[in-house]
Amino acid sequence: MTTTIEPTALALPEEGVDPEALFAQMAEAARDDVDRGNPRVRAPIYFAEEDVFDVQREAYSRFLQSNGLYAAAFKSVARFERDVIEMTGRLFNNPAPVGNITSGGTESILLGIMAARNRARKQRGITEPEIVAPMTAHPAFNKGAEYFGLKITRTPIDGDCLLDLDAYKAAVTPNTVLMVGSAVNWSFGTIDPIPEMAAFAAERDINFHTDGCLGGFLLPFVEQLGYPVTPFDFRVPGVSSLSADLHKYGYAARGTSTINWRNEALREHHIFQFDATNWTSGNYRTPTMAGSRPGGAVAAAWAVMHYLGQRGYREAAARKMRTMDRLKAGIRAIPGLKVLANPAAAIFAFGSDEVDIYAVADGLEARGWSVARGRAPASIHMMEYGYAMEGAADQYLSDLEDALNDVRGLGLEAKDREARYGAS
Ligand SMILES: *Cc1c(COP(=O)(O)O)cnc(C)c1O
Repeated sequence: MTTTIEPTALALPEEGVDPEALFAQMAEAARDDVDRGNPRVRAPIYFAEEDVFDVQREAYSRFLQSNGLYAAAFKSVARFERDVIEMTGRLFNNPAPVGNITSGGTESILLGIMAARNRARKQRGITEPEIVAPMTAHPAFNKGAEYFGLKITRTPIDGDCLLDLDAYKAAVTPNTVLMVGSAVNWSFGTIDPIPEMAAFAAERDINFHTDGCLGGFLLPFVEQLGYPVTPFDFRVPGVSSLSADLHKYGYAARGTSTINWRNEALREHHIFQFDATNWTSGNYRTPTMAGSRPGGAVAAAWAVMHYLGQRGYREAAARKMRTMDRLKAGIRAIPGLKVLANPAAAIFAFGSDEVDIYAVADGLEARGWSVARGRAPASIHMMEYGYAMEGAADQYLSDLEDALNDVRGLGLEAKDREARYGAS
């Protein structure tokens, strides 16, 4: 054991390092990582109080070495996954839930795409498959199209940043195998008109995927709180699959999401299976993209869901909604600024018809706030991951008003025009 670590060592050290020295180095490495409690930076860490992290940590560490690939060896993990899918599916109003836990929203979406492609190939003979998705859908849909060889058509939003439904329908061709909507989308926090979109898909035997990666574990509770929520889940006929991220507002550990299906006949198209004649070692079957799967992550999701219960999720959602309502109302009250579209939860964006909003963003940055910029239309993107903005909303609003007045009074021009994904 040594206690020194070469800062620039490129090779595996010959001698093992003493744990104390090791963890000191790791703490040093993390010194400049983002701080969850700092509202000016807004760390992308979904948070529902420290005790929830304690439950995650304890559950994860107890199942650290268990592997979801080996269902017979780790019956616990298999049961946790089944239970999480049961609870999640029911939350989304499917009385007979089926689905899987995946490594994250992207994997859930990839499985939704692959299963749609496979079903259409088998049942409709489609060899040149296409996806139709709004401009507001997550980049993971393009990633999946690229991975699995589909064409993807992105359809426009209107002047109010809402989906142009006619253009969306017009983009559907005889080769369309998947239509997509978001609840909520990342850009504006809007729920797409899922009932109209999914009905159009169902009439043509096309899979419809609701991307609830962000909103999935928030909207059911937001609805319970009495806010208006456009139907997005299995209550809507035609919704075939729904992704919802446990590692976002599900408050589970990193590396967990869910893909929920209306029924097994739809789900089976992402199960990979081949028989012993193709491999020297025998049959092999996996339901998701991974082989070995971290049992700890699954256990942590199961534990957190039971720990919080519906009441815990509802209370966390209520606190976040209050903060966002305060911010939206404050911004609407400032002449020259406008909240874009009709945000339902988690996120909103605001812009201006009068001034260059990127110049306002510069002014906020000069006052110590890090700002995420939206591209089309030019906007400022606001999101509450945890509770950081709870006590900072009034300060933000007054700094925003000052920044806006400077842009107006001094005729300031924007220095930074680059739009980036999420918090910068
Ligand atoms: C986060 C997110 C995804 C992708 O999820 P990852 O966990 O980052 O892979 C997809 N869609 C929406 C709306 C998201 O917010």
